[in-house]
Amino acid sequence: MFILRCVKRFISYLMFVVSSPFVKREKVGLKNLSFEELNIKDSVLSAIYTMGYEKPSPIQKETIPLILSGRDVVGQARSGSGKTAAFGIPLVEMTNIADRSVQALILTPTRELAEQVAREISNIGRKRGVRVCAIYGGMPIEPQIRRLQGGVHVVVGTPGRILDHLRRKTLNLRSIRVIVLDEADRILDMGFIDDISTILFFAKNRKQTLLFSATMPYEVINLSRKYMKNPITVKISQDELIVKHIDQYYVETVPENKLKVLKRILNEHREEKILVFCATRRKTNHIAWKLKQSGYFVFRLNGDMTQSQRNWSLESFRKPGSKILVATDVASRGIDVPTTDLVVNFDIPRNLKDYVHRIGRTGRFDRRGKAITIITQRDHSFLRKILRTNKMEKYYFKK
Ligand code: ADP
Ligand code: MG
Repeated sequence: MFILRCVKRFISYLMFVVSSPFVKREKVGLKNLSFEELNIKDSVLSAIYTMGYEKPSPIQKETIPLILSGRDVVGQARSGSGKTAAFGIPLVEMTNIADRSVQALILTPTRELAEQVAREISNIGRKRGVRVCAIYGGMPIEPQIRRLQGGVHVVVGTPGRILDHLRRKTLNLRSIRVIVLDEADRILDMGFIDDISTILFFAKNRKQTLLFSATMPYEVINLSRKYMKNPITVKISQDELIVKHIDQYYVETVPENKLKVLKRILNEHREEKILVFCATRRKTNHIAWKLKQSGYFVFRLNGDMTQSQRNWSLESFRKPGSKILVATDVASRGIDVPTTDLVVNFDIPRNLKDYVHRIGRTGRFDRRGKAITIITQRDHSFLRKILRTNKMEKYYFKK
């Protein structure tokens, strides 16, 4: 089995190497570029500094010039390394303010991520006068139509609702220049691929296609070539499944005691902002309810809730202070709450890639993070899989 998997991976890698003549590898440290040296307009620079960004991160240094030069780019760098601004800054820079039609479209796998990315791009583009709009399902369509009619330069949205607007002709991609797939490997997987191909067909006038994610399997890069022109790959992590800036622990227990163990963990991290992942929507409801009953300050986030409840939960979690958010994997991709101290996996994720995205909700940008995974005997094979690539220690309670 193992040998077969290795052979498959090797073949896949060979295909990748053969089909990607323009692979650019990490050059971190060679250039100590500042934002000024990236040739961006004063209005954008001033907005970036107002946001508190002093120096570009490695992925930003590498991809901003490439995107500005008009290239198609596949960008891979770890969670929390500033990928949003890596495409957001050049998008804002290239926007023709005088033309009030949609020039850039960014697709994200979740509604919360669409909202977050729209906010970041809107901040970057504030002083240039770039108009940004988030378009996602679960919210009334009329206000979105009115916003679009009022003229927007950049649209950030989830595939289903974007397609809905395209079919109603309330979103027009005639002047589209750039399309970005954020969390590209998720966006290009089975659940979304049909919608994405249709949207890309609507956006056939585009000049550039950009793909960003912390994990970029060769299969996805190969698939993406269908939609991209002579893309250049910027890969910042040597092995994207290795996470070094997060201290990782596991606690073993029996299924009946998982909640008790979770409470002990929460009690030992009382002053912290904690994100707890569960496997299903029902489980998040159940665990959040149990914790609330025991007096914890807890919010929940899952696909069963109405969108306004979901937005309210995440906004509450973002506010300063120690609190707990119990969520499904809807929160595992892209969500940036920089002050999150701890991620707890109440249930193990489906695979190693999801594990890397989940724990990546802590340790954002230049911070360190901490993650604790609760396991039972049946999770041993998953634990071994993590241990093959990541340093993980047994968690000891203080008393
Ligand atoms: P990623 O998409 O790579 O997971 P994000 O784009 O969400 O990461 O950025 C992670 C955090 O880093 C955000 O809080 C963002 O505001 C911050 N950030 C991005 N670029 C910079 C920078 N150059 N300097 C300081 N902070 C930054
Ligand atoms: Mg991101």
